[in-house]
Amino acid sequence: MGSHRMVLQAARLAFLGALVAAAGWAAGAPAALAAPDSFPLATDVRLGGDETQTRFVMDLSRKIDLHVFTLADPYRVVVDIPQITFRLPSKAGETGRGLIKAFRFGLVMPGGSRIVIDLGKPARVEKAFVVDPVEGAPARLVLELAATDREGFLRKVAFDQRFARAQAPLPREQQSSSGDVRPLIVLDPGHGGIDTGTKGPNGQMEKDIVLDFAKRLREKVESLGKYRVLLTRSDDTFVPLAERVRFAREAGAALLLSIHADSLPRREGDAQGATVYTLSETATDPAAARLAEQENRADVIAGVDLKDQPDDVAGILIDLAQRETKTFSTQFAHKLVATIKRTARLHKEPLKSAGFRVLRAPDVPSVLVELGYVSNKEDLQSLLSDSWRDRTADAMTSAIDGYFSTHIAGARTGSN
Ligand SMILES: [Zn+2]
Repeated sequence: MGSHRMVLQAARLAFLGALVAAAGWAAGAPAALAAPDSFPLATDVRLGGDETQTRFVMDLSRKIDLHVFTLADPYRVVVDIPQITFRLPSKAGETGRGLIKAFRFGLVMPGGSRIVIDLGKPARVEKAFVVDPVEGAPARLVLELAATDREGFLRKVAFDQRFARAQAPLPREQQSSSGDVRPLIVLDPGHGGIDTGTKGPNGQMEKDIVLDFAKRLREKVESLGKYRVLLTRSDDTFVPLAERVRFAREAGAALLLSIHADSLPRREGDAQGATVYTLSETATDPAAARLAEQENRADVIAGVDLKDQPDDVAGILIDLAQRETKTFSTQFAHKLVATIKRTARLHKEPLKSAGFRVLRAPDVPSVLVELGYVSNKEDLQSLLSDSWRDRTADAMTSAIDGYFSTHIAGARTGSN
């Protein structure tokens, strides 16, 4: 046990070094949240035009600043704006017009909202501006898009990226730095903010279901008094996948548990029950591969894949740590399946693996659980039920406790 602990420790130190070296990456307090009423309001949105010229207009309660850039593969236009409250029609963004296929909007960080527009083909932003309210008419955010070719589009992307500022550190929970040596468990409610995750038939959103579940689970695990628990997000904020991994590593987590809910398109039949996933480059089956691809799209959805900087931690340390981490992840996954089985319905093949980006920490055992299918009537009922959430969170708590007490008693405590 001692040697692996040193390896993990060393990997972590190297990692922290790399972090410090990364320009502009300094811990900063998240911007203070103003009262919701003080945010500008988006009240309506309209699309106009055709496949050569398309216009996007959003009504606002007052004038705001905007920053527009483009991303390729898939073609997107991203509009960064100060935090606003979206009160748009419920289906807004789901269908497009002209060059616009669809669009999403939401919070990406405290103080910052974003609109991500999916394009059906390459387009250039001819105009982007906000007009003042006049005589009873609201302020309006206007984008004018014109068709271009792939080469023109890519040139613009390159231009935008040259001017892209390093992203501000994303909000996260404060870490307790009190010398507490209890093992740290990082719970990772999937999606958030602009990225809603899957949706139930009546608009129930995965991001809300899993956040509530993670909070319950935190409460239960903390009540044991033996563990520290942090969430990668504790409100409706978008957090990029790499940032979730980075957070768990930097905080010295002994376990990362990512929490999601799946859905299956109707044409692919019906599926139900919980599934537990570990990381693997080769997926267990095509369904697992599809799911990982879908969950990995979070960053594309929020338009944050500007730069995907790899962690330059010494390879050999990673290798060693990775083998151990993999073993621990698998042990925990087994424990989780065995425990959940007693209280909740499991998928017919409850243990799978695939290339989930959020499970890629080389030194933190990581497991992703899909609580159930929002596309399945009974599962959705369970997912929305207080008593089901409580029972399942209880089961997971005992799985976590069982894992730490029987498999690696004390091995990772105090390692940071
Ligand atoms: Zn998900």
